[in-house]
Parts: sequence; structure tokens; C-alpha cells
Amino acid sequence: MAESEVNLTKTYDAVVIGSGAAGGMAAHVLTSHGLQVLLLEAGKKLPIEKELRSMEWPYDNQYRGMLPPDQHSLSFNEYTIRNPPYGPGFEKAKGLKSYIGSTDYVKNIVVDERENPFTGTNYAWVRARCLGGKTNIWGRLALRLSDYDFKAKSRDGYGEDWPISYSDIAPYYDKVDLYLGITGVKENLPYLPDSIFQRPTKLNCAEVTLKESLAKMGRVLTQYRAGVTSDGLKHNKYRSRCYGRGACERKGGCDIHAAFDSPTGLIYPAMDTGNLTLRTNAVVREITVDPKTGKASGVHFVDSESMKDYAVRGKVVVLAASTLESARLLLLSKSRLHPNGLANSSGHVGHNFCEHIMGPGVAGRAKNLVGKPPTLDDGRPGGFYLTRFRNLAEKHPKFIRGYGFEGGSGSTMFPRGTDAHGFGAAFKEEVRKNQGAFIGMGAFGEVLARYENYVDLDPVVKDKWGIPALRFHYKFGDNEHRMAEDMKETAQEMFEAAGFEIEHVSSRVLTEGWSIHELGTARMGSDPKTSVLNQFQQSHDVKNLFVVDGSAFVNASCQNPTWTIMSLCWRSSDYLVDELKKGNL
Ligand SMILES: Cc1cc2nc3c(=O)[nH]c(=O)nc-3n(C[C@H](O)[C@H](O)[C@H](O)COP(=O)(O)OP(=O)(O)OC[C@H]3O[C@@H](n4cnc5c(N)ncnc54)[C@H](O)[C@@H]3O)c2cc1C
Ligand code: SF4
Repeated sequence: MAESEVNLTKTYDAVVIGSGAAGGMAAHVLTSHGLQVLLLEAGKKLPIEKELRSMEWPYDNQYRGMLPPDQHSLSFNEYTIRNPPYGPGFEKAKGLKSYIGSTDYVKNIVVDERENPFTGTNYAWVRARCLGGKTNIWGRLALRLSDYDFKAKSRDGYGEDWPISYSDIAPYYDKVDLYLGITGVKENLPYLPDSIFQRPTKLNCAEVTLKESLAKMGRVLTQYRAGVTSDGLKHNKYRSRCYGRGACERKGGCDIHAAFDSPTGLIYPAMDTGNLTLRTNAVVREITVDPKTGKASGVHFVDSESMKDYAVRGKVVVLAASTLESARLLLLSKSRLHPNGLANSSGHVGHNFCEHIMGPGVAGRAKNLVGKPPTLDDGRPGGFYLTRFRNLAEKHPKFIRGYGFEGGSGSTMFPRGTDAHGFGAAFKEEVRKNQGAFIGMGAFGEVLARYENYVDLDPVVKDKWGIPALRFHYKFGDNEHRMAEDMKETAQEMFEAAGFEIEHVSSRVLTEGWSIHELGTARMGSDPKTSVLNQFQQSHDVKNLFVVDGSAFVNASCQNPTWTIMSLCWRSSDYLVDELKKGNL
């Protein structure tokens, strides 16, 4: 897809900042309504199929798929003992990547930490600066939220309810399902609504054993609900159906685009309308305002390679740079009329920052599968999802909210979790015998949205483009630590009940940020004093500014956020078009 030139003299109907799940969806919906849209993306347009190489065998890769030796990816301990922005100690590394950047297939997708510094409390901040953002490498677990999440305050008294209910967003979840494709199985759970699923993947032997055992405990295990088209999409010529090639195991992206990514799922179809202008290498540094009206007038961006500064104009500005980058841009866009940062008369921009806590989990073996012939288990985009079971009908005495588990079992290209010891032929035999019997799972739990967990701008540190860096003031609280303790205990209890031989129970909580589900820095609400956006992700203060990514979340729930980000964005973009046509913006 060729990019067209940005017309610097034109006033676009909408300028969209960021090309990930949110920006891609905004571009799709707005252009389909006939708006002239300019999409600005800070990163490059990578030759993505060459980066991902989903079918490359490990022995055909110079480094067996790992990072080249002159690059370094941060480990858990480095996040814990070294302070960002990671100065001394990394002198030898030509490139410094987040923990996700540990393979040859993602090294150009995730950012260099030193070019993109941040300061403050430890945070494993994973950023992907290229066309499509993090959707190029996301894990694809595509879950809906329910009124257990949207009305969580009404259930347990903590935080705020969302200004919407499930019935407001349900039609948009349906649209996203049908437009992008999702696999899964209906379960009729009130706390995890079903999607409109395409052909599901199959659970394997140990997973079925666990499912049946859990059913006796009143808990539900279902097939991984993946944002992957398993039947194909007749309306999209850029994406193939899933051929179950097993490459998902590598979590490096899908080079035939069966797994949703924003460029092939949303942006290329939007370009086909003739209404979209795409400009990559465009690092937006400020949203500009009209000094007379206080309304957004456009943006300033820096060309990431030439360092040249540009100004472009739009009738509406749609911010979709991802939760933390969007908060940063709002805070950077100070002016006489908005001295506290744009859209920030409430003082809530950057605050109520929330996400998912990870770490606790369990790994073991299904003893009846040891020594059985290997089966083809990794030819699917995911294993299983064990749904939330805490604080639904009963109240847990130690914590509020819930958690779910992601897991999988069976043979994979590289044997996992076999815990084999020894040397030579006997060792190999041991690995072969046990590898198909492996089963493991890890939890994702809700981190409560707290005003005191926030980001602001560092007064000194700047990124490669001279733009002030973000500073973190963020820690898990007691509720999260008590929940993590319970995750470990229930993981063990469920594996024991299924009759698995447990090899390892993990109680270690991973560094803040590890889940890559940052949310809530510009939350929506009905009261402009305590929220930044209304229910259509429109700024209370600046009517022609919309923030359509995870910033708008009121709480994190425990479900992965991307399907909700895109459904909310679709709803808000429809509203934006209506309001623009009525002359209200
Ligand atoms: C390894 C991995 C696994 C994941 N697994 C799951 C999963 O299983 N399920 C799930 O729901 N979610 C998952 N996620 C999270 C998911 O990828 C994000 O929720 C989703 O991509 C968020 O969309 P976004 O548009 O807000 O941000 P992004 O996809 O990050 O896109 C933001 C874009 O904005 C651009 N940008 C930033 N700043 C600027 C600027 N100043 N100017 C111009 N452009 C800018 C960025 O370069 C980027 O392209 C995973 C993420 C990763 C990395
Ligand atoms: S299993 Fe399917 S979605 Fe995953 S990489 Fe292979 S083709 Fe793509």
C-alpha cells in the first residue's frame, strides 16, 4: 500500500494519531462514512511479512530465532534492580529492548528503550512503534467485558461505574466480531459474554481432563477466544484464514494475517476507500488549539528520520496513541487556555492508571500422557481460557474483583515444562517421553484503578526527538497482592483436582506493566470533575477531541482489553460522524 503525501494546506475532517487497534479502527469507521482522514503513525511501515517469517524453521535462523548478540532484551531482574531509563550497565548493547523484544522476529517492531526513555517507578513498558503498533505481535485473546465490569462499583462499592452498560456496547462487539473474525465456543456466561464465533479450535487431551474436573467445581474452561479468522473473511482481501501452522506458539505475529492486525484488518481497507492519507514516521509532539475557541485545531509532528517539524490541521483530532502515550500527549499539549494539559480541567489525565497483574501460575504433567506418541498441538492460535470465578455470586473475604487463567497443553516445537534431567540419549528420551504431557497456566487479575497510580512528565529526561519523557508513579496495592496469593493457591488446587503431577507452582508477581494491558489514564464518566471523557470518548473540555484507546477505561476488569478498545472506538467514531454532520464539533 503506497502512502500519499500529506497536504499541509488542507484541513482534514479528522486527524487520527496512532495506527494500532484504536487508530486503525477510527480510520476504518471514519473513512467508511466518507470523512477525509489523515492517519499519523510515529513508527515505520515495516516489510512486516519479512520481519515475522512465521514459517521459518529455527535452524534456518542465524540465531535460532533469538536476538542478535549485539542487542539486549531486559529480564525480570533487570526491571527490578535497575532504574529506568536504563543508563549504566548496558553500554555494550547496541539496541536495548523490553522483555518482549527477545526474538529476532520482533526486534524491529518494539522500540529501543534508550531512544524512548521513561523514568520513575519500575515498569515493564512494552511499546511497538511501527504501522499497526502492538497488534502486529499481540497474543490475540479477544474477550468481552460485561456488566460485572461496567457496573463493578454497584456490585462492590469500589471506584466508579462506567457511564455505559453492556447493552450499549454489545452491538459494536458484534460488528467487530463480524468485521475482523474471532474463534471460540459459546458458554452463555453472564460475566463473559459470547462473541459471534467462527470455527473453534480443539482442546487437547489434558485440557479436556482439566475442563471436566473444573466443571465439577463449578468453574469454566473454554477454548482460547482468539481474534483470528478461522473461516476467512470474504470482505477482506488482505487476510487469509488460519491454517493452523503452529507458528502462533512463537508469539511473533502471523505473516498471513489470519490473526488480526490493524494494517491488514483495518487500515488497508480504509485506504481502499480513497479517503485515507497515511503518514508514517510522524511523531506527534503536540495537539494544537485555536487560541480563540480552545478547540483542537490540528497537531505538530516531527519526522522521525529528518527531525523536521510539521503542522497539520483537522476539524477533529482523534487520539489513539495507546493508553500511556495518549496521556503523555495530552499533558504535553499545554496552552494558555489549557494550562494543566489538554482535556485536563479535572486533573485526572494520567491518573486512575490500571492494568492486569501477572505471575502466579502452575505447570505440570498429565501422567496418563507420558510416553504416548506426540500429537500436533501447536497448530492453533491458543490453548484455553479459564474464566473468572471469584467475586461473582460469593464475596471473597480477602480481595475484590477477579482473575482468569490463560493456558495450554501438549506437544510443541520446543518441548516445554518437562523438567528433565540427565545427559545424552537418556536425556533426549526423557524429554520425548514427557513433552506431550505438559500442561500449564498463568493468571491475569484486575489491578484496581487508583487516583494515586499515575504518570506525569519528567522535567528533565527527553526522548530521541526532544520530547519530554513519561514519569511513572505506579505500584500494585494490597488488593492485588492478596489476589495473587489466591491465584497461586487455586492454580495448585485445580491441577491437583484434575490429577496432574505438579512440577512447579509460581507465586512470583511479575513487574508492573508485564501484562501489556495499560488502561485508564483518561477515564470516561458523566461528571467532568472526576473524568476526562464522556461515554463517547469525547473530551468534556474540548468537544472536537476524542481519545479512543484504552485510556478511556474506568476499570481494567480481568479480561484482555483489545476487543473492547475496538468496540468502544467504533461506537465513538459513529457518534463523532453524527456530531460533525450536525455541526456540533
Ligand atoms: C506481546 C503482546 C501480547 C498481547 N496480547 C494481548 C491479548 O492476548 N489480548 C489483548 O486484548 N491484548 C493483548 N495485547 C495488548 C494489545 O496489543 C493492545 O491492547 C492494543 O494493541 C492496544 O491498541 P492501541 O491502538 O491502544 O495501541 P497500540 O497498538 O500500541 O498502537 C498505538 C500506536 O500509536 C503510535 N504512537 C504512539 N505515540 C505516538 C505519537 N506521539 N505520534 C504518532 N503515533 C504514535 C505507536 O507507534 C503505535 O503504532 C498484547 C500486546 C503485546 C505486545
Ligand atoms: S496458527 Fe493461524 S493465526 Fe497462528 S500464525 Fe498460524 S495461521 Fe496465523
